[in-house]
Amino acid sequence: MADEKSPRPAVEETIIIGSGPAGWTAGLYSARANLNPLLITGNDYGGQVSITYEVENYPGFPEALSGPELVEKMKEQAEKFGLTVEYDHVSEIVTDQHPFVVRTAMGKEYKAKSLILCTGARPRYLQVPGEKEFTGKGVSYCATCDGFFFRGKELVVVGGGDSAVEEALFLTKFATKVRVIHRRDELRASKIVRDRAFTNEKMEFVWNTVVTSINGNGSVSSVSTKNTITGETSEIKTDGVFVYIGHLPNNDLYHGKLHLDEDGHLITDKKMRTNVPGIFAAGEIQDKVFKQVATSVGQGCSAAMQTEKFLAELESEGYHGGVDPREFPSYAPFVPVAQTAAPERELIPA
Ligand code: NAP
Repeated sequence: MADEKSPRPAVEETIIIGSGPAGWTAGLYSARANLNPLLITGNDYGGQVSITYEVENYPGFPEALSGPELVEKMKEQAEKFGLTVEYDHVSEIVTDQHPFVVRTAMGKEYKAKSLILCTGARPRYLQVPGEKEFTGKGVSYCATCDGFFFRGKELVVVGGGDSAVEEALFLTKFATKVRVIHRRDELRASKIVRDRAFTNEKMEFVWNTVVTSINGNGSVSSVSTKNTITGETSEIKTDGVFVYIGHLPNNDLYHGKLHLDEDGHLITDKKMRTNVPGIFAAGEIQDKVFKQVATSVGQGCSAAMQTEKFLAELESEGYHGGVDPREFPSYAPFVPVAQTAAPERELIPA
């Protein structure tokens, strides 16, 4: 905790919000730039990668490593250079005054000359009857966390992207059968993942099908389904349902304060700037195209480098607090980067 370390300044140079790959990288670079940064982890420590069983495509780790291991390595590296970590959740940011104000669930209040927002994304829910009722009783969004409990059981995974198929493959380590229910007859997942899935004897695909309800008595026993082409309904017996149908940005803090696109992502420019000078964003809160650990890391790095530049500009303008940097003439205009939805990958027929 920050209290047990050296006392924090009255006004922080920069506060990083979020503890996924973008946040740790922003922490590393801003610490090495002598900004004495503070990172507030949020409730979902480590972000989405921390619930990933195996990360195979992060450069530098040819043997692959688990998501939690990668998070710990990133944290250790950033702390080595002076990042201070607070295990707390930000409940409010004040963006229309400078220094900015950050308030937390544990009742703390910080002031900061700059912010780097790395609050990431969370799983999208199916929103069908039974989903809420059976969450933790057979419905899960984390194969790494819950797969072990389904040893010798049959499972359903919903979705057709990389997450669904990769995590379904992981679940075959425990389950006797894993059925992937996908709303189309083509997977969105990448070729290497598809190839592995199609040759795994425990995997089965249920095409052109959506789950309409999750059923059971105390725990999950089946899902009701509907064929998207024929309209035919059916019931599939299962002991558990893992939902991997994409993600939604964690933007609760930003409504009415920062510019969001129609899907709720923060809008940034090429320098990772939001529309408020001094507030930067990195990772999946502002990226709806790439969403990789490697890209989030790059964005966290860029955001920290731009933060350093912003703070240097403030200093050269003779900033002593109380002045709104939005009024500084030297601040270049904000030019948002247009993002389209995730690119369509090569799709393969069933
Ligand atoms: P995604 O690529 O957006 O895939 C979501 C899947 O859920 C799609 O197949 C989609 O169907 C389906 N879906 C969406 N809404 C649905 C609904 N209401 N009911 C039923 N199905 C629904 O999400 P993701 O798999 O979480 O991946 C997110 C990003 O992270 C991607 O860019 C992915 O490449 C990346 N990722 C990479 C790796 C890796 O490189 N190892 C691992 C995991 C994730 P449609 O196909 O019909 O749209």
